[in-house]
Amino acid sequence: MKEFIERTLVIIKPDGVKRNLSGEIISRFEKTGLKIVGLKMIWIDKDFAKKHYPESLIPVLTEKTFLDYDSMNVKVNEPREKVGKGAYEDLIRYISEGPVIAMVLEGVHAVEIVRKLVGTTSPHKSPPGTIRGDFTHLSMGYATYRKIGGRNLIHASGTKEEAKKEISLWFKESELHSYKGVHDEHIL
Ligand code: UDP
Ligand code: MG
Repeated sequence: MKEFIERTLVIIKPDGVKRNLSGEIISRFEKTGLKIVGLKMIWIDKDFAKKHYPESLIPVLTEKTFLDYDSMNVKVNEPREKVGKGAYEDLIRYISEGPVIAMVLEGVHAVEIVRKLVGTTSPHKSPPGTIRGDFTHLSMGYATYRKIGGRNLIHASGTKEEAKKEISLWFKESELHSYKGVHDEHIL
C-alpha cells in the first residue's frame, strides 16, 4: 500500500535547538513509528528563510496575531498591514537566528500525525501532550507585541502539497533514504 505513504518536513527551530529539546522532539516522532528518512543541522540565512516562509503568509500571521490581541485586550493604533508585516519580519529573524534541525519523516498519514503531535500554532492553546503545549507557552499575540517572533519550537508541513514543496526546498534527493524499518512489516 505504498500509495498511502506520505513524507513530511519537520524543522526544530532555533529555540528548540538552543533549549536542548532536539532529542526529546525527535523521539516523540520516532515513537509513533514514523520513519526518519532525512536529517541534518543547518543555519539558514534570511533569503532562504523567505523561500520557506514566503510573504504570502502575511495575511495568516495578521489574522492569528489579532485573534490573540483580541483575547489579550490589546488595542493597537498601527494599521493591520503594518502589524502583519512586523510579525513576518520577526519570523524571518527568528528562524535564521541560529541553527535548526531539519528532518523528513515518512509513514501512513505522516502529515496529519506530525501536526497532531506538534499542536496549534499558538502554544498557549496547544493541548497537553503536544510538543508546543508541553514545552512552551507564549502566544503569537504576545510575541508580536514584544517583537520577538512566535517562538513555538517547531515547524511542520501543514498539508501534503506543502510537504512536497518544502522537502524539495530543504533536501536534495540524495539526502533522502529509503530503507525498511520494523514497522514496515505491518504496512507494506
Ligand atoms: N507566526 C507568528 N505570528 C502569528 C502566526 C505565526 O509569528 O501570528 C509564526 C510562528 O512561528 C509560526 C509561523 O509563523 O509557526 C508560521 O505560521 P503558520 O500559520 O504556518 O503556523 P504553523 O503552521 O507553524 O502552526
Ligand atoms: Mg504552517
